[in-house]
Amino acid sequence: MKDKLSVLKSVFGHDGFRPLQEEAVDTILQGRDLLMILPTGGGKSLCYQLPSLLMEGVSIVISPLLALMHDQVTALKAQGIAAEMISSMQDAEEIEAIYQKLFSGQLKLLYVAPERFKSGRFIDMLQQLRINFFVIDEAHCVSEWGHEFRDDYRRLSFLRQTFPGVGIAAFTATATQKVAEDIVTNLQLRDPARVRGAIFRENMLVSVEYRQKDGRQQLLQFLSSHKDEQGIIYTFTRKAAETLALFLQGKGVKARAYHAGLDAAERSEVYHDFVHDEIEIVVATVAFGMGIDKSNIRFVVHMSMPKTIENYYQEIGRAGRDGLASEVLLLFSVADMMQRKELINQLPDSPYKEHSYAQLNAMIRYADSESCRHERIAAYFDDTIDACASQCDNCLNPEQPKVDITTEAQMFLSAVYRSEQRFGQAYIIDLLRGSKSQKLEDNGHHRLSVYGVGKERSQAQWYVIGERLLEVGALNRGEYQALVIEPLGLDILKKKATLDVRESRMRVKRTSRYSADEGVHSETFEALRALRSTIAHEEEVPAYVVFNDKTLKEMAEALPQTREEMLQVGGIGEKKYDRYGEEFLGLCRQLKGQG
Ligand code: ADP
Ligand code: ZN
Repeated sequence: MKDKLSVLKSVFGHDGFRPLQEEAVDTILQGRDLLMILPTGGGKSLCYQLPSLLMEGVSIVISPLLALMHDQVTALKAQGIAAEMISSMQDAEEIEAIYQKLFSGQLKLLYVAPERFKSGRFIDMLQQLRINFFVIDEAHCVSEWGHEFRDDYRRLSFLRQTFPGVGIAAFTATATQKVAEDIVTNLQLRDPARVRGAIFRENMLVSVEYRQKDGRQQLLQFLSSHKDEQGIIYTFTRKAAETLALFLQGKGVKARAYHAGLDAAERSEVYHDFVHDEIEIVVATVAFGMGIDKSNIRFVVHMSMPKTIENYYQEIGRAGRDGLASEVLLLFSVADMMQRKELINQLPDSPYKEHSYAQLNAMIRYADSESCRHERIAAYFDDTIDACASQCDNCLNPEQPKVDITTEAQMFLSAVYRSEQRFGQAYIIDLLRGSKSQKLEDNGHHRLSVYGVGKERSQAQWYVIGERLLEVGALNRGEYQALVIEPLGLDILKKKATLDVRESRMRVKRTSRYSADEGVHSETFEALRALRSTIAHEEEVPAYVVFNDKTLKEMAEALPQTREEMLQVGGIGEKKYDRYGEEFLGLCRQLKGQG
């Protein structure tokens, strides 16, 4: 057998293995199953490409994205490696030619999309080949608990049964313990070697800020320290991607929009121009970037909050793959939060729905957190870090003024305790502020001693206090989002521990995020508008067809709580109500609850 290191040098041009690569390579060479979790840019592809060259037969690589496969195959061919891909893009003749190569043993690597395995003919063909191992790329797609579940991936369990003697190597950049277990179970891996890289990316400076208005000023500020560098800006909607790209072009930046609504030709042009450094910035929805092979992306900005930490981590992971300094910024607001919640509210009740809430809450707590960003991301993926070395905003500014909120925390905890740890945050805040809500009365909670003790503080401030208690682990969320008290919470109640919070958090939220002050109107309006654009997007109609701005403004002001109230808003008749009323009513109720 040829020697690993000489092939590493002669074919791939590398002088040595990166951490964990050799372990993965050896596992595959021994014919053992492998689960490798390594951050984007860690060098996963080499881990199967190298063994493929050293073993007899052909390796079958299953990968979810055509563009990604195409780039990989092109790169491999350029290195003189016999690789091909089979996809729906090719005609029968081209595919026949590839089959020929396969049967004459000329191919080392064959890339296929998972859909291909629906074809019996394809499987028959594979059974006649000498396959050395299967590779499942982006393996988190097999898990419903991951962020990119694909049905075609789920079916890959048949590989083990149909090819019992062939090793399976699964790769992913992001997997919590739960997702990792799902991968092992679904792919029926046999006692796989688990090779797991550190989540921490030390070359990446991470910051999170509350978005002021549309965030453009903050964005320009950020970009001013990244002149002539290349980066990705993520927006939540296609429309936002387009308008922001235009805005940046107006500022003389070479920016282009990218989203799934563009035609294929334009998409591949933008992709190509970005990869070839002809564009500086791509303003994109999440449709952009999976598997992108570009190592010199210097920054990633999120203009609004991603749905999950998995999404976020994968998206920021596209910056700095070359190991050089890179920077990422997340801008978020309460409107994002509302919008994401509203999207989940619309799902039918299921464990998946509960899980989605939990994922969203984790994302919100991350964004709101005062502790090390890297540490929190690592913890989410069940990992730890040694030291962040000032690579995040919170570690860089530890000396921010703080205020003591021990008394408030005690009120909060005692409200949770007196209502028997059966309610969520919004309810507890209503209780503290002495709200006249029917639900409180039905439960007899208006008679509790804690009822109304927190009138002095705004809803927004109570929200911060609740989040802070969750963040430090004094509270936890149990079933149905009910708050439950943890040991630290008991200590605070018994005055054995104190609690403080950044002064700016109590302030920022009072003035611009929630309260009855000036900020609320635009935040509310933004949240409603976000829902409108989601619906418009789903129905493929312009937003004003759903409700025009005037209607939306009126709604934001009135926040109707019943069908009758909603029908009083100008521009909402019976027909409109039947069509969109319930969804907006749901959001208005929530907004009222929070604001
Ligand atoms: P991943 O799939 O984990 O995101 P890639 O396989 O695309 O990462 O590798 C990322 C980059 O690292 C590529 O540019 C690749 O050439 C480079 N690379 C991989 N292994 C090594 C190595 N042993 N030495 C130097 N560079 C490497
Ligand atoms: Zn840090």
